[in-house]
Amino acid sequence: MRWSAAFALALAVTVGVQTQTPLPKPKAIEAGRRGWAAIRDGQNEEAAKAFADALFHDARDPQLHLGAGLAAYLLGNASNAQEHLEAALTLDPALTQASLLLGTILYRNSDFAGALRVYEAALASAPKDATLAERVRQLRAEADVQRDFYQAQGGHFTVLFEGPADDALSQRALDVLEDAYVRVGTALNRFPDGPVTVVLYTEQQFSDITRSPSWAAAQYNGRIRIPVRGALRKPEELERVLFHEFTHVLVSSIAPRGVPTWLNEGLAVVFEPKGRAWSRQALDAKAARIPLSKLSDGFKGLSDDDAGTAYAESADAVAQMIDLAGEWAVVALLQDVARGRPFAEAFGDRMLVPWDEFSGAAKR
Ligand SMILES: [Zn+2]
Repeated sequence: MRWSAAFALALAVTVGVQTQTPLPKPKAIEAGRRGWAAIRDGQNEEAAKAFADALFHDARDPQLHLGAGLAAYLLGNASNAQEHLEAALTLDPALTQASLLLGTILYRNSDFAGALRVYEAALASAPKDATLAERVRQLRAEADVQRDFYQAQGGHFTVLFEGPADDALSQRALDVLEDAYVRVGTALNRFPDGPVTVVLYTEQQFSDITRSPSWAAAQYNGRIRIPVRGALRKPEELERVLFHEFTHVLVSSIAPRGVPTWLNEGLAVVFEPKGRAWSRQALDAKAARIPLSKLSDGFKGLSDDDAGTAYAESADAVAQMIDLAGEWAVVALLQDVARGRPFAEAFGDRMLVPWDEFSGAAKR
């Protein structure tokens, strides 16, 4: 991703035999450098501005489209990111980073075949790229496994599940998801860019169901995967877990990374149909609390008991935030995180309470 004047010059020289020699454009190069520096610093909004500036001076540079696409993606603007990445690949089909990011975005939008096409085309240009080869292998393997899955199509969701066709069950899952779509989407004023694929694995347990510490920073990576052993027979449990996971989908579309675990999990629990009541009950039964600041980076390593407390505390904190400033302010905070603002500073601005004060669990 490094871009330098020397490289620009080398590129200009190598393509110099053509009649239309692209001359290096110093303003574009300078703005592009600022863009990459801002990406490295997590200043995603600054990066987006710098790349827009750079593209104004040179719209034919694939690296600049890649930068603009990455910044848009990090800001949660997937459709804009997709446009830039497609432009980058039109200009340079061998730009592997653009293919990797575009494939990720398509996959997240449930465009499974589209993602595979992007990776395969990129692999043709760069046959030795191990990451691309691995993505192609994974996608083909996943397609193989899911060939035997039963599939049900709803307005905004595709539900796949292991085992024999069960129309009643799949209809129930779709109904719950459409309900979550309207309720959580409206509360957060955010809807997925495309259809969301939900894969229900009927034979496995899942830590988000059991709220166990094995919660493996299960970053939403494009499809909701829910091992639901047992939960399928309990309508309430299915509803809870689908609302929970759908909330993660929306959080990740607002801020693809950098969201503290407690905020992400807290939102997911709060939007479960009885999440607030559950968290209050769970906390009433606890003497000790874990400082929120220790729950920013995954719940791994916690005992079963502490993991339960962590989910409950997270939900309690988010419920307080919503009561303090409203859902809109919480969304604005997520957007700040996506832009790369320091969390404590953004929190203070959005919640009108200093982060240190709010996070001092003992004072609550
Ligand atoms: Zn969760």
